[in-house]
Amino acid sequence: MSLLVNRVALVTGAGRGIGRAIALAYAKEGARVVLTARTAEELDEVAGEIRKRGGTALALPADLSDRTVARQIVVDVEAAVGSIEILVNNAGIGSSSKPLPVVDFDDDFWDKTLAVNLTTPYLLCKAVLPGMLSRRWGRIINVASINGKIGSLHGAAYAATKHGLLGLTRTLAMEVAAQGITVNAICPGPVHTVMNDRRIEYDANRQGIAFEELEAELTPLRRRLEPDEIAPLAVYLASDGAATMVGQAINIDGGVLMTG
Ligand code: NAP
Repeated sequence: MSLLVNRVALVTGAGRGIGRAIALAYAKEGARVVLTARTAEELDEVAGEIRKRGGTALALPADLSDRTVARQIVVDVEAAVGSIEILVNNAGIGSSSKPLPVVDFDDDFWDKTLAVNLTTPYLLCKAVLPGMLSRRWGRIINVASINGKIGSLHGAAYAATKHGLLGLTRTLAMEVAAQGITVNAICPGPVHTVMNDRRIEYDANRQGIAFEELEAELTPLRRRLEPDEIAPLAVYLASDGAATMVGQAINIDGGVLMTG
């Protein structure tokens, strides 16, 4: 049986990588999926793929570094499709975008990373909550990282935002659990995406080793995860069956972290 029939889901960063895989998986489970990110061509490709498979999708391009955008997206989705029942805060700026030690860190890049990775997820939560509270049902899934639990060398803004996202997840989960809304975080390890390719390139250059050599050393699996291997966890957390998953920060990382 399909798990998300007719649910309205907003997935940020849905144009490629993990967000794309989650959007496709939600549509397969019967959800009506709204996709957002900056690159309209990528969103259109994903929406087209969903429609080709018989699903329902709407692409809404937006720059989530602009803090005024979150509320507008929610208004637009509600007008076009209906109230958002599942929110996936997945869009992110990676530790690979401008890696530097804190002493040399770019302050503007710090601000931008905070805006996309933490402030907009907070504002999107805030904007979808009134509808979820009135229906006494909702699912919020924040895509954090194992770097929400450990540091990221030369990626202070990334690690700080991912740690912050776990704080938001746990606090909001406490506030709304009794009203039928669950809030949880997914903490991926290295996943084969554009963002992670750049991180491996940076680290391999820094260490003077080959890309493939470093890639194999990242997990006990001796490989990265694929975006499709993250999506089933996001489906589960959005489903009715996950009603008792409250404020969790779940590692899905090929065994990089085994201690919680
Ligand atoms: P990705 O392939 O680079 O995708 C990132 C997505 O976020 C893209 O759709 C991108 O679209 C969107 N995005 C970035 N900046 C944006 C902005 N200003 N406004 C709107 N959308 C924006 O990366 P990914 O690896 O799939 O990452 C997805 C999430 O997983 C991120 O939160 C990341 O931190 C997390 N994660 C990834 C890994 C990994 O190894 N890949 C590990 C742990 C956690 P546009 O560029 O078109 O805007």
